[in-house]
Formats: sequence, C-alpha cells, structure tokens
Amino acid sequence: MIVVEQAGDMQARIGQLKRDGWSVGLVPTMGFFHEGHLSLMRAARENDVVVVSLFVNPAQFGPGEDLAAYPRDLERDLKMAESVGVDIVFHPAPEEMYPEPFLTHVDVERVTAGLCGRSRPGHFRGVTTVVTKLLHIIPADRAYFGQKDAQQLAVIRQMVRDLNMDIEVVACPIIREPDGLAMSSRNAYLGDAERRAATVLHRSLREAERLVESGERRATEIEAAVHTVFKDEPLAQLEYIEVCDNIGMQPIAQLEGTILVAVAAKIGGSRLIDNVLLKVED
Ligand code: AMP
Repeated sequence: MIVVEQAGDMQARIGQLKRDGWSVGLVPTMGFFHEGHLSLMRAARENDVVVVSLFVNPAQFGPGEDLAAYPRDLERDLKMAESVGVDIVFHPAPEEMYPEPFLTHVDVERVTAGLCGRSRPGHFRGVTTVVTKLLHIIPADRAYFGQKDAQQLAVIRQMVRDLNMDIEVVACPIIREPDGLAMSSRNAYLGDAERRAATVLHRSLREAERLVESGERRATEIEAAVHTVFKDEPLAQLEYIEVCDNIGMQPIAQLEGTILVAVAAKIGGSRLIDNVLLKVED
C-alpha cells in the first residue's frame, strides 16, 4: 500500500493505471476508521485497484463545529486500510486541497435544503466541492458511499447526474454496533452514559419501522412515535425526525413506495445521525 500526498502525483498515477486498463474504486473518508469504513473498502475490491482518500475536509465543517476536535489517528488508519487490501491512500494536506485563493464551489440545490442541510448551512457545499475535486484527482470507475449518510448519498447522486460525472456511485449498507448504534467516528466522543443513551437513535427508528409494518402510513404519527422514544432519554436532544423520499429528500405526508426515516440528535457534545429505508407495500 502506498500513501500519496500530492494531487498531481495522484492524478498521474491513476491516469497511468487507467491507460493500462485497470479499474479503480474510490472510497472517500475523513479517517478514524471503523467497520463502516472497512465495509466500503471491502466492497471496492470489486475493482482492480482500491484507492481511499483520507482527508478531514475543513470546508464541510461550519463555525463552532468539531473540525479541530475531529478524531484522527493516521498510523492506525493506515494499518487498518492495508489489512483489507487497500492499494493507495490519498492523504493530502488542507493547503494541497485548498490552495489560496480558492474560489470555486459546487452547490446542489433542493436536496440539500432539509435534514442536515437545515442545521448545517454550507455543509453539503463543502462535501460536493471536495468530492468533485477528489473525482478529478482520482477519476475512478466507481465511488463508494455509506447509506449511514443518506442525504449525502442523495446529494452526490444528484450532482453526478446533473454534471454528467463519469462515475458509478455505489451505496453500502449501514454497519452497526451489536446494540444497534450506527458506527461513526464521532462515537469516540461519547462517555459511558452517553454511549448507552446513543442507542436511542436506532431504537426510535425501529419503533418507526414497527409502526409502518403494522400499517401506519401517516408521517405525523411516525414522527410522534420517534419523539416519544426520545422523551425517555434525557441525555439525548432530538434535532430532527424527517420522513422523506429517498431521491429528493423532500418531506412526505403519506407513506408510499421507498421512504427514508432520518434522525439527528445531540448527545452531550456529539451530533449523531441515523436512518432507515422502508419499502411501504399496500
Ligand atoms: P466519514 O469518514 O465519516 O466521512 O465516512 C466516510 C464514508 O463512510 C461515508 O460514505 C460514510 O457514509 C461511510 N460510513 C460512515 N459510517 C458508516 C457506517 N456505520 N456504515 C456504513 N458506512 C459508513
């Protein structure tokens, strides 16, 4: 496994690999790996070459968010990536990705308006800008994203369509801890009591799923049930519960087809998200 820090070096290497006929899979990450990240890397092994980008992207953090505190452990990450067969890690410095002056951004409308976009203004603009840059630096055949960040996935799919990007977006399922908590680098922030409380996201989504399975089709009822589960967990503050379509991320009142139920909550100083995709059959 090799580690590349310069964008030009990376572009030249991938260009050569592609001219030689190799397929390339890209897994964009911010590091501090867990099984969720590793599952994406394993999925990317369907390509001849697996590239992981490891970059804590300042542009997707707002003022007052956790950019400085974001957990980092490069040595551990490199060992974990190597253990699942990653070939190249792209690990640029912030100045390499955003040389001064940096004046160009990619902005996806509407899909970014609700959910996390509402509480984190500018977040998705940072995500789409860095993913566009990464796909120019590493023109892969396929890029792998987790369903854990469902809105991010929808935003990237929209961008790829709108801008005719020559990449296949592959969605990978959410990897969870044994008690249901979705794996996240941010779980490292949680103290013991907070860690126990954090299962409330998953528990509330299971309650939503149970209601839908028992025939409930009104979004207001699903939302009310999630609120009720959160009321019993004083360490958690629900930021949003949304029932929406899985393509445009628009709220829906009456459930039909494939729908996304997404939650975000603050537990102590950590902001956690989770979601479930439900197929509503009549
Ligand atoms: P991050 O390093 O948090 O930006 O995540 C990098 C990629 O890993 C994103 O596509 C995430 O959606 C994905 N990911 C993060 N956590 C999980 C998880 N628990 N299960 C599956 N994918 C995940």
